Amino acid sequence: MGDRAAVVWDSALLGYDLGGDHPFNPIRLELTMRLARSLGLLDDVTTLAPEPADDPDLARAHDMPYVDAVRQAPTVGWDVGHGLGTPDNPVFDRMHAASALVVGGTLLAARVIAEGTADRAVSIAGGLHHAMRDHAAGFCVYNDCSVAISWLLDNGFERIAYIDVDVHHGDGVQAAFYDDPRVLTVSLHQHPATLWPGTGSVTELGAGAAQGTSVNIPLPPGTRDPAWQRAFHAVVPSLLGAFRPQVLVTQCGVDTHAEDPLADLSLSVDGHRATYLALRDLAERYAGGKWLATGGGGYQLLRVVPRSWTHLIAAVLDRDVDPGTRVPTEWLTTVRKVAPRADLPLTMSDGADATFDAWSGGMSDPVDAVIRDVRHAIFPLHGLDPDDPRD
Ligand SMILES: [Zn+2]
Repeated sequence: MGDRAAVVWDSALLGYDLGGDHPFNPIRLELTMRLARSLGLLDDVTTLAPEPADDPDLARAHDMPYVDAVRQAPTVGWDVGHGLGTPDNPVFDRMHAASALVVGGTLLAARVIAEGTADRAVSIAGGLHHAMRDHAAGFCVYNDCSVAISWLLDNGFERIAYIDVDVHHGDGVQAAFYDDPRVLTVSLHQHPATLWPGTGSVTELGAGAAQGTSVNIPLPPGTRDPAWQRAFHAVVPSLLGAFRPQVLVTQCGVDTHAEDPLADLSLSVDGHRATYLALRDLAERYAGGKWLATGGGGYQLLRVVPRSWTHLIAAVLDRDVDPGTRVPTEWLTTVRKVAPRADLPLTMSDGADATFDAWSGGMSDPVDAVIRDVRHAIFPLHGLDPDDPRD
């Protein structure tokens, strides 16, 4: 299946480094690729190295004065505006080049899918879903997801579904396509009243002819795998069946994990794995098999991100890793050199049960109220019955 699937990677992507003790530490990418390699997932797979996105492509999602501000920020000092130079988005050396390379990675994934050399492609460095047209936000300088979706719209795709499973609302991508009926954005996230950026309520539906193409599923803090999966499956498959996308673009942030330091959902590595397999299945069923996967948030750098995104890479490559698989000694030894006291995971599982009860119209859990609200707000706009569990 190496033929059908592409993995975008280059160690230069580690240059997107917000420095100091910023949680968005590139070690999460390095340890993921090392774990995927040590499990043999990348045997016979040629990773594709991206070029930085150029200004015309960045302009798909950003104003040029903002891009110029990013370019000049490391040399002009502290007062550059545009959300730059803040604790969340500190200025760093070669900020423009490193940020443009992340966009280039997701664009390369889009390109191989559009050209037909692969049906699936993954770039774990991508998924910077908070970046806005004229400012940086939430650790994100340029919005690679928005640029890639815009590029796909200009290169043969007329209906694109974007699914965002990061713990934070996918606000930048939603904003970019809020009035564009060609792009369905679906974000599952921790409830905006309890987490930055404070948007992503059920009532954000899309504008004008795009009413119903912005979908938000805000989940209460503490939500665990079975309820999260129930919400996902009660909303996403039906909408994809109605929308009939030609490609699935997914932001696969793993800051939903119970151990993530920045947020309060309670998912497991096993839940993440189940989600990736579900996304793959949905791409096969509803999007002609075409799936562009990116990374995103995820700040439990040693215990969570490497395992979850290794499962993501495995899913893209059809080289699924059994949850009971032992984490290779070679990887553990490497990590212990940088974190001698860390309590490292020994298998590719948290031992969590990723099964769930499908939504049946009942109200047995706080998440069921969210499911009801989302379905009532969105489903009629797609000709679906919000009260019929078969829809
Ligand atoms: Zn996040």
